This record gives sequence, structure tokens and C-alpha cells, in this order.
Amino acid sequence: MFEQELSELKQAGLFRATATVVPDAGARVLVDGHSAILCCSNDYLGLAGHPALAESARDALHRYGVGAGGSRLVSGTSPLHKELERQIAVLKGTQDAVLFNSGYAANTGAIPALVREGDAVFSDSLNHASIIDGCRLSRAQVQIYRHGDPEHLSGLLRGSRTSGRRLIITDGVFSMDGDIAPLREIVEVAERHGAMLMVDDAHATGVLGTRGAGTAEHFGVEGRVPVQMGTLGKALGSFGAYVAGDRGLTDLLRNRSRSFLYSTALPPAVCAASIAALGVLEKEPWRRERLRENIRSLTRGLREADIGVADRETPIVPLIVGDAGKAVSASRGLLDRGVFATAIRPPTVPEGTARIRLTMTAVHTAEDISAVISALADLRRGGIL
Ligand code: PMP
Repeated sequence: MFEQELSELKQAGLFRATATVVPDAGARVLVDGHSAILCCSNDYLGLAGHPALAESARDALHRYGVGAGGSRLVSGTSPLHKELERQIAVLKGTQDAVLFNSGYAANTGAIPALVREGDAVFSDSLNHASIIDGCRLSRAQVQIYRHGDPEHLSGLLRGSRTSGRRLIITDGVFSMDGDIAPLREIVEVAERHGAMLMVDDAHATGVLGTRGAGTAEHFGVEGRVPVQMGTLGKALGSFGAYVAGDRGLTDLLRNRSRSFLYSTALPPAVCAASIAALGVLEKEPWRRERLRENIRSLTRGLREADIGVADRETPIVPLIVGDAGKAVSASRGLLDRGVFATAIRPPTVPEGTARIRLTMTAVHTAEDISAVISALADLRRGGIL
């Protein structure tokens, strides 16, 4: 079945398959049985393997069982769901937060609850697929502004004739490029035009800001971003997502978000792990510091190896190779040299910008980073990168 479609994908270098990954020591994993340094995980602080998360999850498993057994509004809300929502609100400095089962579910659930036909959404051109899908589901008119360009955004808002609600949406940290949205300017544009602003902090939660509260904290615009979405499955090492804001927003989402209403709640043990992760975030700030040092030494080392990358404050370092087939060869070459970093291809990234998306974590050692740089330099010499 589907031979034609699948062979077209293969010919274009766009066929994808899952690799089996098993944690080994430190940043090492076994990828389909081959030992390699993991360089494409979003577990930026190394919390997925933290004993505090595992112990909390284990205790909760015994107390509450495995599954939640119902959606949040029926029988699926445990005290752990409520406690996690409370603690997220504390971290974000908002009145409340509402949990979702994943970031994908948060964006596809929240956006259609906020805007509908007759309203307009203004979305950055490099926003995540879950935002794009949420916008489509909402049936609101969608206007795409040039990536990271508040002036273009402002122009679109000025020209917009909608009499309905206007919602601006941006990734805080762009997932495939690692750059940070110019949130201070975007906040000003939103306030000037009376538009609502939503930020997706999937890759910023736990990473940016002095307490790891995300992009708004990073730019000192806490309190000026009314809709703050984020995930628990990346730097927090757990699973699930949230939208934080004032009580009116969270009440609306609990009443209107279809992915919240019509889906079984997160397992309580997962909420317990997320609560433990928030505790570690506060108690072990060295993890964010180590991550920052590792990002610095990777980018410095890459430049010394003549692989140009800009300085950055986020753990995502894209190496654009252009052609999808070439990106796959580069990824294979890296794995042969003991480094695991998958090829990212269209439609995840725009046509002609296939890439190796390297990610750093707090768990990488100086030796790991040197080994990654050597592997990349070797590929560069061989013309594969
Ligand atoms: N938003 C962004 C910016 C993301 O990068 C991701 C995950 N790739 C998501 C949302 C979806 O989050 P989750 O993996 O929890 O579904």
C-alpha cells in the first residue's frame, strides 16, 4: 500500500523512520544499538534521568495508579494536576495555569478557543507546526509576518480590517533555528494595536530567564504577555504542557479547548515528575549555568573548526546544509563518528534549508563537546557538511 507516495518521499530524501534510542552513561545513548553522544535531545537540563523525577513518579504510581481514567472535567483531575498548575503559575508569575497533554495539544486546543471565524491571527513565518495547525483549526483569518520582524507585524496589524479579536502568536525560542523572538518589541506592537499576544515557550521554559521562567522573564516583560504556553517534555524532562495567564483565560480554556475537554488527563505520575522537575529547576541553578557554558564552548569550538555559527543563548544550533539528501548523509556520517544528530528536513523546515539541528544539554562534558566538534570538522573536510 502507498508504494508510489512512499517511493516519492524516498527519492526526495524525505522519507523518515524512527531510530530506537536507549540511554547509556551521561550524554551517551545507544541508537539502534550503536553507541553515540546524543546531540538532538530537548532534555536540555538533563532532568529526564534525574532521580528526583523518577522517585516522585514512582511514589505517585503507587498512590494513584497508572492512568488518570478520565478527562480533566470528568474524573481525571488528581491533587497532583492541581498542584502542578499552581506551581507553574508561581513560576510564570500568573494567576493560574492550565495543563494540556502535550504542546501540540495545547496549541491546537488553545488557539481555536481564543479566536474564531471573523477574528485574525498574526503568526511568525517560522512558528511551530502545532501553532500552524491551531490557527487552521480556529478558522480565523491568518496573516503571516516575516520571521522576527515586529515592523512587518505592525504593518499587517495596521492594515487589518477585522472587527473581531486580533491575536499575535510567536515561538519564544524558535525550535529549528534556536533564535529568540524580539519579544520586547512584539509586546509593544501588541499593546499599541490592542492585540492579544501568545508566546510558545516550548524551548524557553527552564532555559531562559534568571529562574528559567522563559522568554518573558528573559526580556523583563513578565505581566505583559497575556497567553504564555510552554511544555514540560523538554527542559523539564517530563511530559505535557501548559498555558499560563489570568483566571479568565484559564477558565475559558477549561471550557472551550477541545483538546482539554475531550482527552484523558495526563497520568498523575507524570504530573508528579513535573512537580519534582520544577523543584530541581529552583534547587539546581547550576544546570542552567552549565548549559550556557556548554553552548558557549560548542559555538566557540565550531568557529575554530571553521564551521560558522552565531553566538546564541539557546541550546539549539542549526547547521544548514540545504539539500535534504545531503542532510541525511551528514547525519549518517555523524553517527558513524559516534554522534547522534538527526537530519531535519522539509516540511519541518522551509524547502532548501535542510539541516543538522545540534542541541546541547547540561549533561554534555568537555570531552563530549570536543568529540562532537571533531566529528563535524571531519565531515566538513570530507565535503559531507
Ligand atoms: N511548540 C514548539 C515550539 C515545539 O518545538 C514543540 C515540540 N517540538 C511543540 C510546541 C509541541 O510540544 P510537545 O512535544 O509537548 O507536543
